[in-house]
Amino acid sequence: MQAKEIIDALKETSKVSKEDIVTLLNIEAEEDLSYLFQAAQDVRRRHFGNKVFLYGFVYFSTYCRNNCSFCFFRRDNNDTIRYRKNREEVMDIAKGLADSGVHVIDLTLGEDPELHKENFSSMLELVRDIHREIDRPVMISPGVISDELIEAFAKENVEFYALYQETYNRELFQKLRLHQDYDVRMHAKQKARACGMRVEEGLMTGLGETVEDLADSLLSMEQQDFSQIRVMTFVPQNGTPMDGYEPQNHDMELKIIALMRLLNHNVLIPASLDVEGIAGLESRINAGCNVVTSIIPPTAGLAGVAQSTMDVDEGFRTVKGVTPRLEKLGMRAATMAEYREWLAENK
Ligand code: SF4
Repeated sequence: MQAKEIIDALKETSKVSKEDIVTLLNIEAEEDLSYLFQAAQDVRRRHFGNKVFLYGFVYFSTYCRNNCSFCFFRRDNNDTIRYRKNREEVMDIAKGLADSGVHVIDLTLGEDPELHKENFSSMLELVRDIHREIDRPVMISPGVISDELIEAFAKENVEFYALYQETYNRELFQKLRLHQDYDVRMHAKQKARACGMRVEEGLMTGLGETVEDLADSLLSMEQQDFSQIRVMTFVPQNGTPMDGYEPQNHDMELKIIALMRLLNHNVLIPASLDVEGIAGLESRINAGCNVVTSIIPPTAGLAGVAQSTMDVDEGFRTVKGVTPRLEKLGMRAATMAEYREWLAENK
């Protein structure tokens, strides 16, 4: 099939082959690209209207027991920034984010050995406190945790468990997530879903994968029950084994976003401010995203992301910084009631 025929089929939820996905990932002609992005926007509008959901980010510990080759916060990187925020600091940041209008508090961290030692009791308390005092849905990104802990977080009514595979190519996974188990990571997501949490899955592009790998990842993700899926372009990080990688442009990320939307009509897809900062918002929304992530309060001293200083202290990665830009694109931040309604209707 030609690119436009495949796109038309995907708009109507027809099944397409891996070959078809590869054809779309290889699109270069401007006309076909516009057709792809327009189709992704049409599908998003059908399911979400012009509403966008905003997620506030609280990366409260940058300690990690792992050594992922792409990550600035890997255990062996002595150039990295380490901190662990206490309860009061986290609550202050979370309250500020909620007051500013975010819909979700994203509590995220490295696989901090101290938290593992105390069986995540302080994080479980944090979730309880956020629900009681701030009344916002919580997303957690603690890395791989035990089944018992997943059950404990589910009992605290955590809304989302984010755990990114980054690739479904097992060989590449082993090069990226050194000494980690592919199946254990997949199992944690299935366990979280079985316990009633929503799961966010994620890919990274620009790490040496092929378009066939991407097509396999996209088709496998479509088979699973993920509520939110994201893709980010790899940003090479100092002090890591991959710091010499050539930085990629963002064209492939945008095509993947559009394909994620066409393969999963009703799913949440974030435009991360963590790749190109606020300048990258428009292209990602126009590719089919309906969530903005990596909203970070200025001067809170948060790191933990790929671009932890870009546009943060200038206040661009805030609800105030994002909303006028959404409005220029004909979109708007949803109300909290609208977000809760979406959650209730899409369990
Ligand atoms: S990607 Fe996550 S698990 Fe891997 S080193 Fe970085 S913080 Fe740790």
